[in-house]
Amino acid sequence: MNSPTGRLAETVDGGKRHASVYWTGDAELRTRFVPPEAVLSVAAAAHLALDLDYPVATVELESPGGAFDVMAYLEPGSRAEPLIAVESKVLDTELDMLVAGMQECRGMGKPSTHRDACRAAKLAGSADWENHHRKCLGLLHHRPVGFWAVSYGQRDRYAFLAHASDAAFSLEPIQFGSLARDSLVAVLVEGR
Ligand SMILES: [Zn+2]
Repeated sequence: MNSPTGRLAETVDGGKRHASVYWTGDAELRTRFVPPEAVLSVAAAAHLALDLDYPVATVELESPGGAFDVMAYLEPGSRAEPLIAVESKVLDTELDMLVAGMQECRGMGKPSTHRDACRAAKLAGSADWENHHRKCLGLLHHRPVGFWAVSYGQRDRYAFLAHASDAAFSLEPIQFGSLARDSLVAVLVEGR
């Protein structure tokens, strides 16, 4: 695959917004390919809308702040009650390291603590630990009911309920089907 040669910027509501589509390939032909991570994000959003019964108007690509690739909320037009956060990784190994690092970290301490936890769990091979920790902070900030981590090879392995307090979170493994909107709404209502 060719390296991305630049992001497409589109003007939305008078401001510049970056799209997850890159100019790649032959500069003269201006051929355009979608990077595999973007395909995964869009596919995950489509899966929420088509198979897990999230109204498409409640599904958002790229969470505010950019921690997650996809978020879905209880109500359209409101980010008040996030139901699910999704993170996608192209490589299965990268996804494994992300989830293991998050389970190790649980949002406690500073990024340097997370680095130590990663090292202790022999995850130091991931050069991306600091980006991984952004997901921990994203869970603490947004507090979605569910968390789904997906790669091309692992579609339904990592489904969780995310329990977050002020200072920490935990990830409770659940059946993949329990990420369906009705199930997460029930958990949300129960916790109110
Ligand atoms: Zn972390």
